[in-house]
Amino acid sequence: MSEEKSLNFIEEIIETDLANGKYKTILTRFPPEPNGYLHIGHAKSICLNFGLGLKYGGKTNLRFDDTNPVKEDIEYVDSIKQDVHWLGFNWEKELYASDYFEQLYLLAIDLIKKGLAYVDDLDAEEIATLKGTPTEPGKDSPNRNRLIEESLLLFAEMKAGKYKDGEKVLRAKIDMASPNMHMRDPLLYRIKHAHHHRTGDAWCIYPMYDFAHGQSDSIENITHSICTLEFIPHRELYDWLIEKLGIFPSQQFEFARLNMTYTVMSKRKLLQLVTEGHVQSWDDPRMPTISGMRRRGFTAESIRNFCEKIGVARRENMIDFSLLEFCLREDLNKSALRVMGILDPVKLIITNYPDAQTEELVSENGPDEAYGTRTVSFSKELWVEREDFMEEAAKKWFRLAPGAMVRLKSAYIVKCDGFTKHVDGKLTAIHCSYIPESKSGNDTSGISVKGTIHWVSIAHAIPAEIRLYERLFKVENPASEEGDFKEYINEDSLKIITNAWVEKSLEKATTATRYQFLRKGYFCLDKESMSDKLVFNRTVTLKDAWLKEVKKR
Ligand code: ATP
Ligand code: MG
Repeated sequence: MSEEKSLNFIEEIIETDLANGKYKTILTRFPPEPNGYLHIGHAKSICLNFGLGLKYGGKTNLRFDDTNPVKEDIEYVDSIKQDVHWLGFNWEKELYASDYFEQLYLLAIDLIKKGLAYVDDLDAEEIATLKGTPTEPGKDSPNRNRLIEESLLLFAEMKAGKYKDGEKVLRAKIDMASPNMHMRDPLLYRIKHAHHHRTGDAWCIYPMYDFAHGQSDSIENITHSICTLEFIPHRELYDWLIEKLGIFPSQQFEFARLNMTYTVMSKRKLLQLVTEGHVQSWDDPRMPTISGMRRRGFTAESIRNFCEKIGVARRENMIDFSLLEFCLREDLNKSALRVMGILDPVKLIITNYPDAQTEELVSENGPDEAYGTRTVSFSKELWVEREDFMEEAAKKWFRLAPGAMVRLKSAYIVKCDGFTKHVDGKLTAIHCSYIPESKSGNDTSGISVKGTIHWVSIAHAIPAEIRLYERLFKVENPASEEGDFKEYINEDSLKIITNAWVEKSLEKATTATRYQFLRKGYFCLDKESMSDKLVFNRTVTLKDAWLKEVKKR
């Protein structure tokens, strides 16, 4: 790829703003609501906001948009901080919209005093009825012209807890005939007698999104407030509030949210998957959450590269999940240690190999010399993959079959002499003889074979559980299908192999290291792994089997 990447539309705006002195330096923010774990869509927003801060020598705040007391929780706050750090970003300040409750309250009073807000006694239904439709103007609430003093008093009483939920609201006084429904006297405050995870019971009135978000941006002197396209109709109100309050001129810009195939990307839906037991937890490796992907073995670098690759668009689109896996393979190919593990073991006996002998054979750790080598124990009896054997070799079959020769990776060439089967027809052992002169690195046999297979020595292998994952949904866009999105869950998205064998070096495996099990894919140690029972997740296969499947159809 060329170094000269063209600017995305937000970068263009920022460069213009900096060039003509509108702002001296930029300040962006990532504003999650702590009501769930972050997903890959949030990663896009994080990479964008923090990336802009870094690129233009500015800064980025992490602001928890915690104005809804009911759904928010400290567990989510902690996970969000962990995820942003893991992705490789540092925030300038950790802030909470709830810390601005007092300031926001005073700003609301300012609006009332300016005659630009009023307390309304109508209930939600009445307000909706009077709001009109996009083609028909709304009607004024009977309380719209109530005296400023009266609204001030009622607002103070709302705060003091005199009214029940929904009994009164504070509304901006803008234009009931505006073509933009968000400008038809939008709600600024509602009453909610609920415990807040940070402010406790100090408040029973809570600002609405539109009154908290832009004002928080302004309080922090955010220059470029970046959000997703659905907030375009809110921008007029965002600007109106800032102008009428005469506060710092933050500006809102909208980009297309990330949508991906074969998954869902809404915290509400992801929460359902967790609470209804379709997955085990928020960090289940099948989840599109950052914590799930981390546990699955994704690297932060691969996610950042992916976000860079998809770019910043102004139109909604759907990104193929394979692109994310492509970025993942690209990174793991560079960083994963090469090891051997057998997922579906069958015994291979080298009949002419000395019974009690063990050799320590040298094998490469990575794609080139820089990764170094390790030794792997070799002996008379090995585990190999059942799928590497055929009773009757097909055309172009270069693996094990009676009479065929194959190289055992980093070891010898063997010739298959026969096999044994159980009465039920299941293969029980493959019998081979080895060519002593064919040792890897010192092969004087003069024999060349087309196939190389992986193996582990039975006497030295350690048992492991291996978890294989498939896409969580059977259809490309479960959220847009008829009926409930959960009807489209792929019931076979998790396959657990309990009788796998891996090479001894993996005794020292760590969750921080990525492994390529030769020919089988990329794997990582799962957090449930224990020293006496190793558990590995398959992060991704070596090739895109899925694409092949799709092409076959
Ligand atoms: P969800 O619908 O999943 O609950 P949200 O937008 O309500 O998402 P927030 O916590 O409010 O979640 O989002 C924090 C930031 O992340 C916002 O600026 C939001 O625009 C952005 N964001 C959320 N989802 C995506 C996505 N799919 N693609 C890009 N940005 C996103
Ligand atoms: Mg939200």
